[in-house]
Formats: sequence, C-alpha cells, structure tokens
Amino acid sequence: MTAMTSSARPLLNRRLAEFGTTIFAEMSALALSTGSINLGQGFPDTDGPEEVREAAVRALRDGRGNQYPPGPGVPELRGGVAAHQQRRYGLEFDPDTEVLVTAGATEAIAASLLALLEPGDEVIALEPYYDSYAACIAMAGGRRVPVTLRPHEGAFRLDLDELRDAVTDRTRLLLVNTPHNPTGTVLTREELAAIAALAVERDLLVITDEVYEHLVFDGAEHVPLATFPGMRERTVTIGSAGKTFSFTGWKVGWVTAAPGLVTAVRSAKQFLTYVASGPFQYAAAEALALPDTYFTAFREDMQAKRDLLAAGLREAGFTVYDTAGTYFITTDIRPLGETDGFAFCRALPERAGVVAIPNAVFYDHREAGAPFVRFAFCKRTSVLDEAVRRLKSLAG
Ligand SMILES: *Cc1c(COP(=O)(O)O)cnc(C)c1O
Repeated sequence: MTAMTSSARPLLNRRLAEFGTTIFAEMSALALSTGSINLGQGFPDTDGPEEVREAAVRALRDGRGNQYPPGPGVPELRGGVAAHQQRRYGLEFDPDTEVLVTAGATEAIAASLLALLEPGDEVIALEPYYDSYAACIAMAGGRRVPVTLRPHEGAFRLDLDELRDAVTDRTRLLLVNTPHNPTGTVLTREELAAIAALAVERDLLVITDEVYEHLVFDGAEHVPLATFPGMRERTVTIGSAGKTFSFTGWKVGWVTAAPGLVTAVRSAKQFLTYVASGPFQYAAAEALALPDTYFTAFREDMQAKRDLLAAGLREAGFTVYDTAGTYFITTDIRPLGETDGFAFCRALPERAGVVAIPNAVFYDHREAGAPFVRFAFCKRTSVLDEAVRRLKSLAG
C-alpha cells in the first residue's frame, strides 16, 4: 500500500517508490509465525570470537569510544585496516588519508555513491545485486545498468563482452562485488584483470564490495581489484567487520582508497551518520590483528557448512550452483516442478518449515531471476542439519 496525503501525492518520493519494503521483513515475519528455520537473511546465529567481544566490553568500560569518535574513525582501527591490507594483499594505505571507517559496509556503499555520482551518471552493477545498491544509486540520482551473471557450467558467471558493451559515454563507475552475494560467485583473476583493464581504458571509477574477502573456499584466494595495474588510484574498496568477525550488529565497515576518493566519500559520510559504533571500532581493531589461525578456522567452518547445506539441497531435488565464497547458496527450483521463486518462497515455510529468499528481488529483470532461490548457510550445524531434514520432504 502506498502512503498518501490528502493531496493524493505519495509520501515516499519517486526515487525510492520502487523500494517500498524489503522481502527480508516479510520472510522473517513468516519464519516467526510458522516456526520455520530462517535461512533467508544472511547473519550468523553465533557470535564471533570471545576475545573480540571482550575487547568491546573493555573499550566501553574504559571509556573509549563512548563519545563521538573522530570523523574518519579511531586511529587504532584505521591503522589496523591499513596493516591488514598490507599483510594480506601487499596494498599500502596511509591510515590518515586513505582509510575511512563507516557504519558498516552499507554506509560505505551509500556514501561512495552519493559522493561520486552526478544525477544521470550510469553505474554498472553485477546483477543479481545486493539490495542496497539499487536504492543507493537511486538516492544519488544515478542510473543503474545491470550486467547479468548467468549459470554456466554449474556456477553463475560474468560475460565480459556484455560488461564491455554496457559501458557508454555516460558510465561513471563500475560497482563490483566479489565474492558475490547472492550467487556465491568469486570472480577469477582473469575476470578481474579484464574488469581492471576496462576501467582504465574507459577511465571509470570502481567501487568494489569485498565484505566476504575472508570467505573464499576450496583453496582459492581473494584478489582485491585494487591490486591490478591502474586500479589503486581509481578504486574504492569496501570491507566489513560484521562479515569478517561475525558481529553484524556492530556495524563497523571501512573504505580504503586514494586520498582524493577518501576525502570525497568522507564528505558524504559526515552528513549521514557522522560517526558510529565507537567502542566497537576498538574491538574491530583488535579483531583485525587476530592470528591467521582465526581466519583459516572461520573459512573452514563456513566451507563445511556450505558442503552440508549444498548436499542437503541436492538430495531435496534442487539444482545447486557452486558457491565459491560468501554465506549463500543459489539454487534452481525447476527440477522440483516449480518456476516462480516468489511463490515457492512464500509457500516453503508451510510446506517444509524453512525460509529462503527469491533471487528475483535482486534483479531488474525479475523474469531472469524467477527460478532462483537463495539459502544462507551461516548457521549452526545443528540448525542446518534440521533444515536439511525438513527440506527432504520436498523430494518425496
Ligand atoms: C552484508 C553485506 C553488506 C553490508 O555489510 P554491513 O557491514 O553489515 O553494513 C554489504 N555488501 C554485501 C554484499 C553484503 O552481503
């Protein structure tokens, strides 16, 4: 229902009219009312490391971050982010001029788009896309141009020719996401090199959402776009403590980029939240300094959960696409005799006691996403076991 005033003008403006309410609200309510297992929204059902939680308690007790922290973020966290990029990827960033702490990756995305777009600028994004991209491009007055990932040999893949053809004289930036939510695709080094070459050739800015950088499976490696030739100076890289340390409620994210880009993004960010998550910034700084064993164990645990859920979904009759990274598995429901992901997801709680998300909500071309359904595996093993047991009723 659209809210109206007496003058019959809709309250929600035209830029946002198409983004009424998210599917997550509807599906989470369904999960509650039916007692279903919620594999819809992507948040872990166990908290991250105890010592990181304790670091937050300590910061709060010691009075660190209880008042407005510095606008760019506390120096400890900016230093921690710079050290992390250096250690893992060999990327050097000056903590004072090239790192910006944000209220989660969500604010980093919003501030970057609001800062870098003029009305009418075109933004190329990989479809299906994370739901805040479309809304933030719209709020910035930009025009989104989807390039659709399609199933190819068991996984969703990017067509580089299609990407190249999507660039016009009005294209201002590429919005990339790898590992990719919702498909679980991890762009290969060759694909990233081609994207980088295109950005350089057409002089495009790049925003790259790498919040799942530590969830790349099967021995593969996360390769930041900023490491490719010509990319360091044109790329805004986005990370998230929520996803990397399983504290999604803390809303600590960050941007690393060249000084001019960071200054631009900060200009927008200062009028959104100004600052956020004071004590949690200190805790995130300690988390980034955890030994490699943490990151390895986190990845291996999540990979085992992926394997468990993927096997269960296959047994239940879904086509399961390869997930090379993230929290998510995308399935095709057509082998179950279904074609409409929306209808399927609305019925699934009653049918099987499980909640999932229709991928169509992540598409401009809804029909292109119709048969695909996303399941999250960032849940306890016992919860996934029970979900798999319930989903098997679909096969019978
Ligand atoms: C979860 C998620 C975000 C948001 O991260 P926060 O740090 O919680 O704001 C951004 N992008 C993608 C692809 C995500 O999955």
